[in-house]
Amino acid sequence: MSGGRPEGGGRALVVVGSINRDLTLRVPHRPDGGETVLGTEATFAPGGKGANQAMAAARAGARVRFVGSAGPDGTSFVRALGDGGVDVSAVEITGSTTGLAVVLVTTDGQNSIVVAPGANELLTAEQAERVVAAEEAAAEERHGGAPVVLLQCEIPIGAVVDGVRTAAARGARVVLNLAPYTPLPDDVLAVCDPLVVNESEAGQALGRRVATGADAADAALDLARRARSAVVTRGAGGAVVARAGDVTVIPGLTVPVVDTTGAGDAFVGTLAARLAADDDLVAAVRAGNAAGARAVGHRGAQPPNARTSPLPEEL
Ligand code: ADP
Repeated sequence: MSGGRPEGGGRALVVVGSINRDLTLRVPHRPDGGETVLGTEATFAPGGKGANQAMAAARAGARVRFVGSAGPDGTSFVRALGDGGVDVSAVEITGSTTGLAVVLVTTDGQNSIVVAPGANELLTAEQAERVVAAEEAAAEERHGGAPVVLLQCEIPIGAVVDGVRTAAARGARVVLNLAPYTPLPDDVLAVCDPLVVNESEAGQALGRRVATGADAADAALDLARRARSAVVTRGAGGAVVARAGDVTVIPGLTVPVVDTTGAGDAFVGTLAARLAADDDLVAAVRAGNAAGARAVGHRGAQPPNARTSPLPEEL
């Protein structure tokens, strides 16, 4: 399947990651063990950190290629990504079912998520390598900049590790969203520019609590010693970015909260799009912060135009 926007300026952005069907249930509160809670609404929409970030990046103007793996039940979601301006020609449709995420959104806009990876488990580093190599060759031919490669951790970890290593070896700029938190070898973290985490992932990476602005600044500085640069997102508190011992605080924007699902993805996709357009890191983080704030004002993981559909009968 293909799609995508015409060749534009800037570097290509290759997003390697998950694509899911999100089943979102709005609930008054999260159920306790053994408790049944009646939801008020159920919708299916496209999701998966990889697909969400690819869509956000395309909306931010990047020329995006998405590398992922879906099942035959996910073709409409892949097509929707293509319609959104993402080149989906490198998506493989496998025999396995598309990943499924069950998202509980409480009335105050907080979410809890369970993911069954499905076809995402079949994504291989070779798939990513082929696309990065093709984009690198195309960039050379155009005398343009090497691609930016963006990954997250909802795909097999071997594909993340090999994908990061080969992308960096080919001269690409690697942006890694360490979400969900997964321990990775030092040499993989070392080439990330930036490594992006939220406060809870920062806490897991560093083995300490990251809750205040001061904690986040320290965490960003410590993570930037392990990577080329680091960004810690702080929900309503905005984000902190660190590189080479320098830290910049980007305050949160005040917005009414409708649904926090996908705020991080809007942030990361936009950040990577701005890096592909050769913005400097702090400017790119500012753009990500604005996109994250916009996302919390909308329902679903791919705001603002998330395609929702009624519950299909097969579930
Ligand atoms: P994740 O969604 O990965 O847990 P965060 O909660 O840190 O990540 O949110 C990512 C980004 O989205 C934040 O850095 C911020 O830019 C924006 N954001 C999230 N929640 C809010 C909010 N309530 N108000 C304004 N911006 C927000």
